[in-house]
Amino acid sequence: MSATRKVLLITGASRGIGAATARLAAERGYRVCINYLSDDEAAEALRDEINAAGGEALTFRADVSQEPQVLALFGFVDRRLGLLDALVNNAGILERQMRLEQMSVERIERVLTTNVLGSFLCAREAVRRMSTRLGGRGGAIVNLSSMAARLGAPHEYIDYAASKGAIESLTLGLAREVAAEGIRVNAVRPGLIETDIHARGGEPGRVARLRTSVPMQRGGAPEEVARAILWLLSDEASYATATFIDLAGGR
Ligand code: NAD
Repeated sequence: MSATRKVLLITGASRGIGAATARLAAERGYRVCINYLSDDEAAEALRDEINAAGGEALTFRADVSQEPQVLALFGFVDRRLGLLDALVNNAGILERQMRLEQMSVERIERVLTTNVLGSFLCAREAVRRMSTRLGGRGGAIVNLSSMAARLGAPHEYIDYAASKGAIESLTLGLAREVAAEGIRVNAVRPGLIETDIHARGGEPGRVARLRTSVPMQRGGAPEEVARAILWLLSDEASYATATFIDLAGGR
C-alpha cells in the first residue's frame, strides 16, 4: 500500500481492462471510482470485492459521451473522494466487423462519440481539477489507444481505428498543453486483449485466428495492460509524458 491515498477515476471499469486496472490500483492504495455504462451488477460486484479486500472503491454509472453525465460523474468524485489525482480514459466500444461502405451514420457516431468525445470530456474535467495553473496539485492521465490506430483495421472497423487515432492526437496535444502545469498525459496501445469487447459480432473463430497472428501466439490478459497503466500513473513514470506503450505481444 502506498503512503499516499491518491484518487483515481477509471471510466468503463465494470469489466475487462478497466476492471483489472481498478483491482490493481486499489491493491496499490488508490481510492478508486469505477465508472461504467450499463452493467450495474458487475460494477457493484467489483466494488464489493475491492472493499472486502481492504481497498476503497465506489461506483458511478454515467455515459462518458454525454456532457451532463460526465459533469455528474466528476461532481460525485469531488464530493465522495476529494480532489482527483489520476484519470484512466478507458471506456470504449468496438462494433461489429464491416466495411466502411456498409456503416450507418448512427454506428460511426456511436463509436466516435463514445471513444473520442468521451475521452475529451473526461480529460477536460480532469485538467480543470488537476492543473496547477488553475489551483490544482497536478496529476496523471492515461488514455486507451489501440494497435488499430497504427494498423487502420481495414475490412473490420476503421471507425474504431480512427477513433483511436484521434485519442493519440489528444494524448500528444494535451500532454504538451499541460506539461508545465503538473499533469502528465500518456497512452497505452494494446493489441489483442482477451475481453468481452470482442464478443460483439466478429466472425466465428476470429479471436482464435487473431491469436495466431501475434508473434507471442496468444492474446494478452487485461492485467498485463493494467500493470502498464499503473506504471504510467505512478511517480516511477515522473518524466514520461506524451508517451505511448505498445502492449501487443510483438505485433
Ligand atoms: P470491455 O468491452 O470489456 O469493457 C468496456 C467498458 O466500457 C465496460 O465497463 C462498459 O460498461 C464501458 N462503457 C462502454 N461504453 C461506455 C460509455 N459510453 N460510458 C461509460 N462506460 C462505457 O472492453 P475492454 O476490452 O476492457 O476495453 C477497454 C478499453 O481498451 C477500450 O477503450 C478499448 O478500445 C481498449 N482496447 C481494448 C483492446 C482489446 O483487445 N480488448 C485492444 C486495444 C484497446
